[in-house]
Formats: sequence, structure tokens, C-alpha cells
Amino acid sequence: MHILVLVSRGQGVFIPALMKRTHHCSQLRKSDAGSAATLVGWVDSVRDHGGILFVDLRDREGLTQIVLDPANATLEAQFGSIKPESVIEVTGNVQVRIEAAVNPNLATGGIEVHASELMIHNVSKTPPFPMDDTADKTSEDLRMTYRYLDLRRTSNLNLLRLRHKTSQAIRNYMDEETFIEVETPMLFKSTPEGAREFLVPSRMNPGAFYALPQSPQQYKQMLMVAGVERYYQLARCFRDEDLRADRQPEFTQLDIELSFIDREDMYSLIEGLMKRIWKDTLGKGIETPFLRMSYYDAMNRFGVDKPDMRFDMELQDCADIFASSEFKVFKGTLDSGGSIKAFNAKGLADLTQGELRGLEDSAKSLGAKGLAFIKSVGDEWKSPILKFFSDQEKAAIKEQLQVEDGDIVFFAATEWERACTILGRVRLEAAQLLVKREKLTISPTDYKFLWVIEFPLMLFDEEQGRYVSSHHPFTAPVVEDIPLLDSDPKKVRGQHYDLVLNGVELGGGSIRIHQPELQKKVFEDVLKIPADVVESRFGYMLKAFEYGAPPHGGIAFGLDRICTILGQRTSIRDVIAFPKNQKGQEMMTQSPGIATEKQLRDLHVKAVLPKKES
Ligand code: ASP
Repeated sequence: MHILVLVSRGQGVFIPALMKRTHHCSQLRKSDAGSAATLVGWVDSVRDHGGILFVDLRDREGLTQIVLDPANATLEAQFGSIKPESVIEVTGNVQVRIEAAVNPNLATGGIEVHASELMIHNVSKTPPFPMDDTADKTSEDLRMTYRYLDLRRTSNLNLLRLRHKTSQAIRNYMDEETFIEVETPMLFKSTPEGAREFLVPSRMNPGAFYALPQSPQQYKQMLMVAGVERYYQLARCFRDEDLRADRQPEFTQLDIELSFIDREDMYSLIEGLMKRIWKDTLGKGIETPFLRMSYYDAMNRFGVDKPDMRFDMELQDCADIFASSEFKVFKGTLDSGGSIKAFNAKGLADLTQGELRGLEDSAKSLGAKGLAFIKSVGDEWKSPILKFFSDQEKAAIKEQLQVEDGDIVFFAATEWERACTILGRVRLEAAQLLVKREKLTISPTDYKFLWVIEFPLMLFDEEQGRYVSSHHPFTAPVVEDIPLLDSDPKKVRGQHYDLVLNGVELGGGSIRIHQPELQKKVFEDVLKIPADVVESRFGYMLKAFEYGAPPHGGIAFGLDRICTILGQRTSIRDVIAFPKNQKGQEMMTQSPGIATEKQLRDLHVKAVLPKKES
């Protein structure tokens, strides 16, 4: 039987331990010398010094050096099984190491345990990749196939611990702020206007499907109507999208909704939350209140709605410079109502042909025809388009963009939003090239939070020929803009806010519509969702709003993204215990799997596979 006891961790912190061991592997100190100890863990490494084995024994807390003397025949008989990653249990005497063997970098570096008893619990095969950080260079699919070994690596275990601490900080803060944690269904129904969903056939309702929730949005709003007032949940969400470094088909959101608040209340609640997370996980203070920027400014100055505020290189508007330009491309753009945007990538004039082509390709992937630039090299300007510019224009460029020797200025001339987006991407990539050259420092521990606000409520979708919500259809318009819903929907601002950190959207939310007439109007008149579809999908919601719906608002954060930043990683897969690969597969258990004919029959479903390409 395992009995839980509390043992000291040496820093006045008590942790529970199992009786099988007397200490964990990062616990013994010189003051323990002379006492007996039993440790269990994994063989981190074995060194043979003239027949005596020195084992670094590892558990999740750290390492302890074990000395195994072959003079003890029962020990020696087991030496052959002491392979790296085998699980062993050692009982022995704690001894102070000789001066020359002291390891000041290890918490237990002053002692070693001289074993008198040894038990081999499990002999390990040789792992398919190294168990230290060099494993990061091996194939991710291989590591994911053996994820139990990958996770056993200290740096990965620490990421799981960091995630736990983050959730813990969130739960403590939300509880202190009187929020109630409520679970909402995983088996939901299809919602329009969002990402593609995962469907689950219903055996008991032939032909009907549940959808896994993209977020608990509708349920949390119903909880407000139910009078919960302050709700939160660490909710698993599902979106069947193509995967990228910051996307997984299932991910975790910190989902929040409150009644009787306005945007300012939300900002201060969330700033307090972020402060708490950073303090409890990293022991760091962060500055509040956070900066705020309108969506328009974010796009206009940084070319993206989630600007990385750790460096400048802001986009400039050059319409004035080229108002009567000879350069047809620029002049034509301005005449047709477009914009000319530019930014100075300071010190990047030495970029290689390959790097320039890379930036051009990125610009083209966003609809640019090319990427115009001017380089300043040894006080001489070089550019294929220089011949079109007058001296006056050159002087104006030099002044507005503060061009100095070694700089390169990039231009985009097209409609405003596209020009911003193109240069926004080039700006980020140019910054990385500057970081590579050590001309720019972008520190992962420089935390620049930013609220992006004043988004338009609607965007016009050319393809569908109708307005779509820029956030979701439940976001309330800014009150004074409501009359514009009929006359000029594009001008209506939404009460929507995003929290951005270092170029990553941590989360977003809004104050919601809580009046049935306004919600119906947005669905039917603005978004042009047919009345019968509104009724079948949202009828219950409109009905609920007729029974005393409080004004309310909320927000949701990507927990995986927060942990990725806290852990100074670049992929959210690193902070998820069992993530999926680019093809949506979880390699260890080989999911998804093929369903049997019987399973499909029971579910009233037929699998129609795509034809194999010959
Ligand atoms: N449900 C929204 C989302 O997942 C967040 C919110 O509005 O609270 O993006």
C-alpha cells in the first residue's frame, strides 16, 4: 500500500511523497550525511570508474549521484541491468563527496548515496533518440511516437509543470474574483459563421450529428441569462482547420463571461489576471495598464491586427510624397484611391539575393505584383525604380523614412488594407533577418502586451457578396454606431477587444448583444442569414433574451499560446502533452483510426473514401 506523507523539500516547501522512497532526487544535502535514504527513479547516466558504477539517478525533481560498489556481490550481480532509462530503487547511506567531486551546479552536488540495496524495477531498451535537449533536432513524428520518452526529458516535464502552474494561477485568481467554474457540453451542434467543425454521428438520432464546440460561446451566454453572473472554464475547443505552429485541432481556452460590465471592467480584470499568471509562473512583474491601439492604427502602423511592439520599423504613408509622381505604378495607385506604404528596414541593405527573393515571395503570396525597394549603400541609392523618382521625391523619402547608409526601404502600392498587410508581413520577416545579423534584439522575455480595440463590427466578404462578422455575430455594436447598421454597416464599430502579446493574439472577446430585436436584426438584416436558419440555429437564444437577459460580455484566451510564450517556445505542440501532427494525427496511439463496418452501420454512416491516385 502506498502511504502519503509530507516530506521537506529543503526550501521550507512540503511535498507529498510515497513511502517507497524517503526523498526525491533533488533533496539530499550535506546536512543529510550519515543518514539512510531510499531513492527511486530513472538511470540518467552510468559511468564505470574501475569497476565502481556511478549512476546519476533522475526523477522529475532532479538528479542524485549513486555509488554502486562491486564488492557487494548482490549489487554486482545486477550491474548488467543498469542501463540508461531503466527504473531502479536504491537504498544506501548519504555521504559527503570528496572536494574534487563536488558539483556546484547540481542541488545535490555535495553528496552521493552509497548503495547497500538495489532493486531493478524495469530494464529499459535503448531509447530511439537522446534523452537530452539534442533530441529537439530529431524528427518530431519519431518523438511523438515515443511521446512518453520525449515527455520524460527534463525540459519537457518542466513545460507540463509550467502549464499546471498557469492553470493553477488562473483558477486561484478567478476564484478570488468570485467566478464560478462551469462545464459546458462537448457534444454540441453545428454553428455557422465559424471554422470547420468536427461532427459526431448520433446513434440514437439517425442522420443527426453533434458538432464538437469551437468554443462554449453560446452556452456561456446562456449561463449569463441563467444568472451565473461570473463564469469561467478551462474549456477544450475543436476546430477542423489546417494546422500551423500555433494551431491544433483541439486546444484549450480560458473562457470567461460576466454580467453587468463594460469594456473598461474587462480590461482591468484581465490585466490583473495576466499580472497574476506572470507572477505565479515566472515570478515576474508586468506593467499595467496595457497599451491600447485601434484596429485601424494597428493595421496602418504595423500592417497586422496583432502587432509585435518589441521593435519599431513602423509603416509610413507616402501618398504626399508621390502625389504627382512620374512613376506610373505609384501615381496610378493613388489616382484609383489606393495607398503607398513604406517602411525602413534599418541596416538590412546587405540582404542577400536569396533573402530578397524570400521577402518578394511573401509579398506576392499576399497579392503584391512585386516588392519595390531602395537600398542605401555607401551613401548611394540603388533600386530598379530609382530612375522614376525626382530629386524632390528622393529628398522627401530620405526625410520621412530617415534613410541612412545601410538601410533598405520597402514599398507597397495598392489598396490600403492590402498594402498594409503586405508590408506587415515583410516587416516581420525583415526583423528576423536583422535579428540573425544581431542588428536587432527581440527578446522572448520582453513582454509587450497590447489591447487592440475598435474593430469594425462587419467586414464585407467579396466572395460571398455579403457582410460577415469580424468577431462573431453576438458582438454588440458601439452604441452610437447602431443607426449606421442600416445605412453603412462597414462603419459600425464593434465592442470587440483582442489581447496581443509580442505579435501573438492571446485572446479576444466582446461585449455582447443582449436585446432580442437587435440580435435578430444583426442575423437577418446585416448578416443576411435566412430567417428559417436563424430560427433553427439561434431561435432558443432569441427566446432566452426575452426572459430577462442581463447586459454581458466575455473573452477567451488560448491557454496553449500563453504557456508557449511563458515557456519561451515557438510551437504550441510543445506545451500540449499529446499533440497532433500537421496531418492531424496523434502518432503514439495512431489516432485517428479506421472505423469497422459494424460501427459505421450502428451510426447510420457510410464512409466514402476519395479515389486513390494511380
Ligand atoms: N468565443 C470567442 C472565441 O472563441 C471568444 C469570446 O468572444 O469570448 O474567439
